[in-house]
Amino acid sequence: MSINLQTNIQYIKGVGPGLGELLQKRGIHNVSDLLENYPRSYEDHRVSRSITSLQPNENISLKAYVESVSSINMGRSRKKMYEILLSDSSGKVACKYFRRPYQGYFDKFNKGDAVIVSGKVGLYRGKIQFNHPEVHHFKDGEVQTDELVPVYVESDGVKPTKMRRIIQIALNELKSSCKKNSSRSSSENSLRPSNSHSNSYQQEQVFQEYLPEEVLKKYGLLTKKQAIYQIHNPPHDQIELFLKFKSEAQKRIIFDEFFWLELHLAQKKSGLQKQNGPQMPEDNPQLKEFLKNLSFNLTKAQQRTYKEIQADLKSPHPMHRLIQGDVGCGKTVVAFMAALHAIGNGFQVAFMVPTEILAEQHYKNAIKYLKPLGIDTRLLTGQMKLSEQQKIHGELMSGHLRFCIGTHALIQNSVDFKNLGLVIIDEQHRFGVEQRQFLRQKGDTSYSQVQKTQVEQKQIQPHFLVMTATPIPRTLAMTAYGDLEISSIDELPEGRSPVITRKVFESKRPKVIQFLKEQIKKGRQAYFVYPLVEESEKLNLKDAKSAHAKIQEELSEFQVGLLHGKMKPAEKDKIMTDFRDKKLDILVATTVIEVGVDVSNANLMIIEHTERFGLSQLHQLRGRVGRGDHKSYCVLLMGYAVSEEAQQRADIMVSTTDGFKISEADLEIRGPGEFLGKKQSGLSGFKMAHLLRDQEILKQARQAAFGIIQKDPGLKKQENSFLSQQLKNRTVHLVG
Ligand code: ADP
Ligand code: MG
Repeated sequence: MSINLQTNIQYIKGVGPGLGELLQKRGIHNVSDLLENYPRSYEDHRVSRSITSLQPNENISLKAYVESVSSINMGRSRKKMYEILLSDSSGKVACKYFRRPYQGYFDKFNKGDAVIVSGKVGLYRGKIQFNHPEVHHFKDGEVQTDELVPVYVESDGVKPTKMRRIIQIALNELKSSCKKNSSRSSSENSLRPSNSHSNSYQQEQVFQEYLPEEVLKKYGLLTKKQAIYQIHNPPHDQIELFLKFKSEAQKRIIFDEFFWLELHLAQKKSGLQKQNGPQMPEDNPQLKEFLKNLSFNLTKAQQRTYKEIQADLKSPHPMHRLIQGDVGCGKTVVAFMAALHAIGNGFQVAFMVPTEILAEQHYKNAIKYLKPLGIDTRLLTGQMKLSEQQKIHGELMSGHLRFCIGTHALIQNSVDFKNLGLVIIDEQHRFGVEQRQFLRQKGDTSYSQVQKTQVEQKQIQPHFLVMTATPIPRTLAMTAYGDLEISSIDELPEGRSPVITRKVFESKRPKVIQFLKEQIKKGRQAYFVYPLVEESEKLNLKDAKSAHAKIQEELSEFQVGLLHGKMKPAEKDKIMTDFRDKKLDILVATTVIEVGVDVSNANLMIIEHTERFGLSQLHQLRGRVGRGDHKSYCVLLMGYAVSEEAQQRADIMVSTTDGFKISEADLEIRGPGEFLGKKQSGLSGFKMAHLLRDQEILKQARQAAFGIIQKDPGLKKQENSFLSQQLKNRTVHLVG
C-alpha cells in the first residue's frame, strides 16, 4: 500500500498498533505529524571526541561509559537532582538532570554500559558538564555510517533511534509513492508534488506551498518539501550550518513557525486599527505647568515616548501601546502626562496597578502634581470601606471624577465610567491576560450606555497604555505583546549609579549584618526581603514575622519595621511613611515592595533565600535601591544546597544591572512560555524556532506576514485563499 501524508501512523512499515499508540500519545497521528516531529539536535559523528576535549557551549555527542547513576536531594524542597557520571579513557563528565525525562529513565543505565550522550556542553564552577543531555545505549554499528545524525526527543517507549528509523521509512515510502503517482516528477530527490493524480491530492494539500512566490524569493526560502526532507537528512556539505541551526532547511521551518503567529497578529492588529477611538485632538495647556513643577527635566527617552503617545491619542483609532523601560527609568511621569492629555480633552482616565502600596504611592504623586492643576484624583482599592468605594463608583458614573487610580477593584463589574478615554496599566506583567481583557471590555460597555448622545452608533474603544519593567528585545516584544505598539525608555535619569551586587552564602551572614550596621550608622536605610510564594503565603508570612522579631533583637539599637501584603492599608501606609521619613532604619518586607516603591535614601537591600526568587523578580526588587545619590548595594543571601539554576540566576544578577540583559537571560532559562505567562504561549509552541537565537528570521517572518495583510487585510484575494484557510486551522493552536 502506498502512503500519503494523511496515512495513519500505524500503517508505516515497522510501526504497527503498539508503537502506533505510543506515537499517538505524543500527538503523532499521521505521516504528516511524523515528519513535523523535527530533530531536537544533531549528533556530530565526523570525529570521535574525548571527554577532555569538550568545550563549553558545544553541541556534541560522544561515546562514553557509565560510571554511576545517583540522585541528590536538593535543599528543603523535596526535589531531587539526578546525575549520570560518564567516563572515557580521557576523563569524566557529569550529566545533570533536575527532573526525570520519564519514569524509569535512570534505572536502565548500569555501570560499564556503553552509551551515546548528546547535548550542549555546560560549565558549572569551572567544570564541564552536560545539562539534561540525551543518553542512550550504544549499539555497535548503529550510527557510525552517517556523519550527522538527527536526534529526536526521547519519550516513554520511543527511542530516538527508533524514531529515526520510522521517519526514514516514511520518507522513502512517500518518495516512491510520489514517483508512482506522478508522471512529471523528474528527479528522485525533488519530492515535488504532481497535480495530475488524485492519489497524491492529499499530499499536495499539506505540502502545497502556501507562501507566495514573492516571499520565497525575497527571503531565499526552500520549499517546505525540500526543507522537511533535509531536516531529517542533513546534506553532507551543510553539517556546520545544521549544528548551529543556521541551514536553509532549518531557516524555512523556523520561518514558517513564526510566520503563522505573525500572520495571526497582523490580522488582529489590522482589525484593531479599524476601530474608533476617543477623539483627543487638543494639546493640554496645563502640561507646561505640570512639567515646571517637577524637580527634574525629562530624559530624551521620556520625551520621545510621550511624543509617540500623544500622536496615538490624537489619532482617530484607539491606542494600544506598551511602554517598556527598566525599573527607575521614570515611566510614571510619562503616564501622568498621557492622563493629562486625556483629561484636557474631557475624558476619564483609569490607572490600574497591581498592589495597594503602589496605588497609594501613585495616588500621592497625583495629589502632589495634579491637584495644583485643579484635577481631582481618587484612590479605589478593594480594602477600602464599601461605602467609600460606592461613592467613587457614583462619581465615575456621573463623569464628575476624571482620574482614578486603583487596584483590581477598578475592574469590578459594579464600576462604570461615563466616558472612559484612557486606561493605563502599570506593571502589566503582574496582571493576568484576562484582567487586561476585562478592562478593554469595560471601555466598550461604558460607551454603550452613552451611545446615543455621544458616539452615535459607533463602537468606541478607549486608548490603552500599558507599562512594564520587564524589558525584552524589540522584535520579541512586538511578538509577545502582539497587537501593541512599543515605546522603549532606554535611558535612566542622570546620576544613577549601578547597584553593587554580591552573592553571599549563609555562613557569611555576620559580615552582612556588620555591613548593614555601618550603612545605617552613615544615615542610610535598608530593606530585608523575604520570599512570598503564593501557595505558601502563611508559612512565609511567619518567616517574615519571626525574621522581623529576630532582626529587631539583633539590631536593637535600630528601628525595624515590618511590611507585608496582609496588613491593613492604614498600617501599610504608616509603615511606608515612617520608612520614608526615616523613623525606621530597616524595613523587613515580603515582595509587596517589589513593584514601584520609591525611597531614595534606602541604599541596601538584603534578599533572603535568593534561590526562591525568579530573575525578573530579583531585578524588580533590586530596583528599589540605587534611586538616590548614594552608592547602593544588593546582597543575595543563599544556602548551599540550591539548584544550579538558582546559582545561575544569582550570578546573572551579580554580573549585570541591565534589565534587557536580565530578561534575555530569564527568557533563556525559563523558556518563553513561562516567561511571558501561559496565555501568551502562542510563543511557546514552537518545535524548532528559538526566540532569542532566531530573532533575525522572526523579523523577516513578521515583515512578510504584515506585508501580506497590508495588501489584503481580510485575506480575501484568490491567491491568499489557501493562506486564509490554513490560518483558521492554526489560530486555534496559536491562541488556544
Ligand atoms: P519606573 O519606570 O520604575 O516606574 P518611576 O516612574 O517610579 O520609575 O521613577 C523613578 C524615580 O525617578 C521617581 O522618583 C521619579 O520621580 C524619578 N524620575 C522620573 N523621571 C526622572 C528624570 N527625568 N530625572 C530624574 N528623576 C526622574
Ligand atoms: Mg513604576
